[in-house]
Formats: sequence, structure tokens, C-alpha cells
Amino acid sequence: MVGITAVYDIIIVGAGPGGIAAAVKAKEAGLNYLIVEKGEDIFSGIISSYPTGKEVYPTIPKGASEGYSMSLLEPPEKKVTIEEFYRSVKEALKNLGGLNIKTVEEFKSFHKEGEILVVQTDKADYQCRNLILAIGSNIPRKLKIYGDARPIARTLHDPNKYLNQNVLVIGGGNTGADVVITLSKLKREKEDQTKVYWANRGEKFEVVREVARDLGEEILLGGDIEILEDAKPVIGEVDESGIRRLTIRIEEYSLDDEIKIYRSMSFPMKNVIACIGFMGPAQIFEQLGMELMTHETGRKSELVILDENMQTSIKTVYAIGGAISPSYIKRSKDGKSDEVRHLNLIYTAVNDGTHVVEHIASKLKGSITPS
Ligand SMILES: Cc1cc2nc3c(=O)[nH]c(=O)nc-3n(C[C@H](O)[C@H](O)[C@H](O)COP(=O)(O)OP(=O)(O)OC[C@H]3O[C@@H](n4cnc5c(N)ncnc54)[C@H](O)[C@@H]3O)c2cc1C
Repeated sequence: MVGITAVYDIIIVGAGPGGIAAAVKAKEAGLNYLIVEKGEDIFSGIISSYPTGKEVYPTIPKGASEGYSMSLLEPPEKKVTIEEFYRSVKEALKNLGGLNIKTVEEFKSFHKEGEILVVQTDKADYQCRNLILAIGSNIPRKLKIYGDARPIARTLHDPNKYLNQNVLVIGGGNTGADVVITLSKLKREKEDQTKVYWANRGEKFEVVREVARDLGEEILLGGDIEILEDAKPVIGEVDESGIRRLTIRIEEYSLDDEIKIYRSMSFPMKNVIACIGFMGPAQIFEQLGMELMTHETGRKSELVILDENMQTSIKTVYAIGGAISPSYIKRSKDGKSDEVRHLNLIYTAVNDGTHVVEHIASKLKGSITPS
């Protein structure tokens, strides 16, 4: 461990839209801040989870009381790809004189020494007065199969990689559908005879109208898509040729009380893309000692408790952005707890980041900031 030096006003964990907004605001307010990012650059979470070339929507939730609180992080109305958006943000940050960021450094934990927080990463210990956790929600959901499924892709980075191979896309939501359409279109245009299999655990595929329209159009144009309803990934194994395979069960009959017959398909894991979503970091918050509350939100889930300034149950430690989506518990001063819907959007992350730093800056106003 490297020795402790400065006491930062704020340490921000994560350089996604939320963390960057917080850092820019801290810089504008003249605060002494540091961002710790485990990836190689800003927007690592986004780059690793968005399909290559995905257009970025500047969505603002219905009924929001304000627009984007920071224009440099607002995706333009005229849609741009994630790569173009990333480049424009990089350029804007360069024009601001850059940010104080340590990349390829992973936050591990923190503890309190009086009023000071000691933040531990895999490289060093740092001291700060306030900690903002902007770690996103990009912990891929587990496939819940027997065996190892690590080689399975979680998003589509290069569609060309899947030419001349049958592909299995798992997940009946918008991301899965987007991937199916992109692959099918490319295969059709290249006159590739292989198929796209689209599997969902349930019988219902849940996609928004625009995606359903694009999917219908792709099928009408001759896209070779085979839909597998009620298909369950069950086993990850290595076959006799040393190929890692995923087996999915597509039909199940009971012969009698004891005997069952299954029909399954097996795909090389390198040809499988699992678009089964991401989960919030409730486990991480729990390990860090923050208070959570079990709440009914369609499925039972543990939600982090925050006050009206997005402060966790540990004073001076805040959580923002995707990390607290799709909802958190707001505990008011009178002790009342309400579930607050918090859509996982660039907008919410950016506005959280600026509001939390405005709150911290006003709290610190008048106090001396050692550099
Ligand atoms: C496929 C897909 C498409 C989307 N499309 C859109 C869209 O078009 N429009 C829109 O508004 N939203 C979209 N979203 C949602 C949007 O990307 C998120 O809401 C937003 O990125 C959240 O920002 P964040 O800063 O909270 O988290 P993230 O962007 O996830 O950033 C978190 C950062 O924290 C870092 N980190 C995590 N843990 C640690 C640690 N322990 N130590 C150090 N660093 C750490 C990560 O590497 C990452 O860089 C999409 C999401 C997905 C998955």
C-alpha cells in the first residue's frame, strides 16, 4: 500500500456519467476531489455493456422536473453512436483541463477514522471527507446453470464475429431483440445460411413497440430467426473435443411420476450471447455496512436506504446513478420510508452526480480544504 497523503473533499468511485458529472461539478466548485475507476478509461461500464455502434438516447423520464443538469454529458437529440458520444465527452473534458482520475484502480472498501473516511483500493489508501459511490449496476445477472459459463458474451461487440455460425441469443427483452435483429440483418445481407436462435425462459417476450416493429420487419424481409419459447439454459460443460458448450432445455415431457424426457440443444459457448440484464450492487452496499430494506417491486429485492441528499445510512457516503436503480428507499427526516423509482438512465446518473456535489459543496462551504 502507498502511504496516505492528502485529505480529499470527495472521492468518487466510478467514471461513468454519474461519476464524471460529480467530478466536473467538484472541479467547478474548487473542491479537492479524486475519481477512482477500475476500467482503463472513463465510461468503461458503458463501453463494456453497450453493443458496438449502439445509438445513445437522451431519454428524460416522464414528469421529470428539470432537464439535464450538465450539458457536456447530455447525448444530442440527433442520435449519435456510443463511440461518438464517448469521443465528444472526452473532448469536452480535455477542454476543461482534464479530471483528477486514477484508472485501472479498483475500490475495495472504506472505514471511518473519526470524521475522515479511509478509502482502500487495490493500489493505495486515500483519505476523504465524502465518498460518492457511482459504481453503476453492471454486474451481469447469473445464468443459473450447472457448470461454468464465463466464456458466454453478455453483449454484441462485433456482429461479423458471428458470421457463418449458428448463434444463440438468450433473453426476451429489448437488448436480446436488438441483438437478434442486428445479427439476422447482417446474415441476410451477407447471404449467410446460418440461423439466429432466440431463447427466452418464459413464454412472453417483452419488447417495446419500436423494437417489435423492427423485429417484424426483419422477419418479413426473410431473416432466419428461430424463436425458442420457454427454453432453459441448464448445463455448461466441455465436450469430448474440448469445446465449451451450453445446453438449453427446450422441451420437457413426463413419462410417469419418475421419468422425464427432455429435448435439448447444445451450442458452443463462443456462439452464445446472454442478454439477461444486470443487477444492482445491493450485495456490495451490504458488505460495506450500509442499511438495506427488502421491498416488493414486482420481484422481492433489497434496496439501499438513502436520505433526501442521497446519503446512505453511513454519514458522508453517497450512492448515485445506475447503482441505485431501478429504485431505492428514501428515508425522510421524520423516519418515513418510501420507495423511489429511479430509472437507470444517463440523465438520472448525471443529475444525481451534480446534485450530490452541490449538497457537499454547500456543506463544506467555509471549511478549509487541505490540498
Ligand atoms: C445496453 C444498454 C443500453 C443503454 N442505453 C441507454 C441510452 O440509450 N440512454 C440512456 O440514457 N441510458 C442508457 N442505458 C443506461 C445508462 O448507460 C446508465 O444509466 C448509465 O451508464 C449509469 O451511469 P453510472 O455512472 O451510474 O454507471 P456506469 O455508467 O455503469 O459507470 C460506473 C463506473 O464505475 C466503475 N466501477 C464499478 N465498480 C468499481 C470499483 N469497485 N472500483 C472502481 N470503479 C468501479 C465501472 O467500471 C464504470 O466505469 C443503457 C444501458 C445498457 C446496459
